[in-house]
Amino acid sequence: MREDNTSELKVGEMEKEKTRRVRLKAINREQMVLRPMDVERLVPEDHEVRAVWEFVGRMDLSGYYEEIDAVEGEAGRSATDPQLLISLWIYGYSKGVSSAREIGRLCEYDPAYQWLTGLEPINYHTLSDFRVKHEEALDELFTQVLGVLSAEGLITLERVMHDGVKVKACASADTFRREERIRVHLEAAREQVEQMGDPRTAEEISPRVAKARQRAAREKQQLLEKALEELEKIRVCKSGQEEKKKARVSMSDPEARIMKQSDGGFAPSYNVQVTTDAKEKLIVGVGVSQCGSDYGELVPAMERVEENMGCGPEQIVVEGGFISRENILVMNEKNIDLIGPRGDGVEQCAGQLNRRGVELAFRPEAFRYDEGSDTYTCPAGKVLRPDGKEEQPGRINYRYRARGADCQACAFRERCCPQSGTRGRSIRRAVDDPVVVAHIEKMQTEEAKEIYRHRGEVAEFPNAWMKDKIGLRQFRLRGLIKVGMEVLWACLTYNIKQWIRLCWRPQWA
Ligand code: SF4
Repeated sequence: MREDNTSELKVGEMEKEKTRRVRLKAINREQMVLRPMDVERLVPEDHEVRAVWEFVGRMDLSGYYEEIDAVEGEAGRSATDPQLLISLWIYGYSKGVSSAREIGRLCEYDPAYQWLTGLEPINYHTLSDFRVKHEEALDELFTQVLGVLSAEGLITLERVMHDGVKVKACASADTFRREERIRVHLEAAREQVEQMGDPRTAEEISPRVAKARQRAAREKQQLLEKALEELEKIRVCKSGQEEKKKARVSMSDPEARIMKQSDGGFAPSYNVQVTTDAKEKLIVGVGVSQCGSDYGELVPAMERVEENMGCGPEQIVVEGGFISRENILVMNEKNIDLIGPRGDGVEQCAGQLNRRGVELAFRPEAFRYDEGSDTYTCPAGKVLRPDGKEEQPGRINYRYRARGADCQACAFRERCCPQSGTRGRSIRRAVDDPVVVAHIEKMQTEEAKEIYRHRGEVAEFPNAWMKDKIGLRQFRLRGLIKVGMEVLWACLTYNIKQWIRLCWRPQWA
């Protein structure tokens, strides 16, 4: 009897289980909600965005205010506060966002951006124009930031380290063309501009669209004219008529140059030069160049540091690519201690001798110099006498030459000087300036080698940070001035981020 009752109970439970329905909260997306929002509480007290706003608020932005037309007491729309636009860009860059459209979108839903704007929407055109419009004011802002960092004791200029990095331009290698092709495109662009007429009388499209199209056509024409100008500059650097004829330039970013990349490949790029103070790895100078080689970049870099900081560094550490005799002399004149190994610029060029067909056994080392008579004796025992000198920065090359008749009759001529013609073999005796000699000797010391060992961790850190955190592997903007400003924004962000890390403490409410 009891068994029957138990089985009835179980059947009842199972049936109840079958008919049981779980109750869940419904999602209603068709309702209108009005909620109070405390904008100040959108981000916590120690949120980084507050630090950016606070830091920018300490700067003198009068350079930006001067260019604002809207004034109190007069009609018209109020301008967007430069402190807000600067903060938006700095905060955006610090999060790896370098697109004006993207920042505009983030202002609609991201709490940090909403806190900055006070929930007001920002047009991406406003952001985009602001980034490139105020070149001088941005320079001034960068200098002011350095002043604050220096006053906090974060920059000492006792030792700076300098490095150059190639950043790809906003142009592909496919956009490079020779003069004939550019002229064809330019002619077509001119015709298009002429045919467009007055945008106000456009019938098929709205005047606004017509105006935008006309502006685009005009800009294309200007770009192609700029391409021809840049082509001339490239030609000046080329030797030989054939080379000049083959010169090409990008039609989308004429100021970009093909440069060798760190991976060994070649791409349209700009050479970004960054000088970093060794104390806290803060950037004290930044520049952009169109030159692929670094030799000519050291002196301008030091001038930038002097301009930004009011004085130059005590010591500068660079890699071999920056060391030339000329640079050694200039740094000595500026009283800056230069640390860096000998690069190709101070070494004897063996490649030249190879190209002339000079065998190893007849290289200059095989010729014996006699100081008393100031002559050389060649492996065949013939005498080479002084034959003029050539002065270079930091070095004098004394030339010595054998008699033409001696070499003509020599059994070794084909191995020693196959291309000398009727003239005798010549060799050079290079005498370096004492300053250059002292630099070379200094670089043999353990102390200099130890300082140089730390170059990479300081000089390459900001470049790596900007590539990794900001994504500055390729420019978004085009043209030397605009890419210079893009780099300056990135460096400004880097320095402010370091200040936040080292100094900022939230003001707890
Ligand atoms: S070619 Fe002239 S310089 Fe050379 S080994 Fe002969 S004599 Fe001497």
